[in-house]
Amino acid sequence: MEDKFYQLASFEYVADVQIVKGKLESEGIPVFLRDENTLNSDPLISNAIGGVKLQVYSKDKERAIAIYDEIRAYAVDNDGEPVVCPNCKAQKSEPYYNSKGVFYKLFPFFEKRKYKCLNCGMITNSK
Ligand SMILES: [Zn+2]
Repeated sequence: MEDKFYQLASFEYVADVQIVKGKLESEGIPVFLRDENTLNSDPLISNAIGGVKLQVYSKDKERAIAIYDEIRAYAVDNDGEPVVCPNCKAQKSEPYYNSKGVFYKLFPFFEKRKYKCLNCGMITNSK
């Protein structure tokens, strides 16, 4: 069904989207972006609209997820070791921010670091 879309992810920043988009397209998967124009015209509005939504055809869903999992940067702790989720033991966490906006994303050391497990969604504090 060519007219069905699957939303692979949403991104706060266009730069992040371009990396994923470029990789997927290099693998022959068509990529569709939503809200990118809004984001480009006013980056600060991205929080309100949930950022750029990256979609692929549903038929490409499985491959797109596999590729995305491969290239996304998982969080590591201060020793460079993968952050392990205390709940499900997955090593698939990403830095989590308390929706404080661009400032805290650029300068995360002002905020106590947290991680969000991408497997079960649990949010943990850094040690
Ligand atoms: Zn987990």
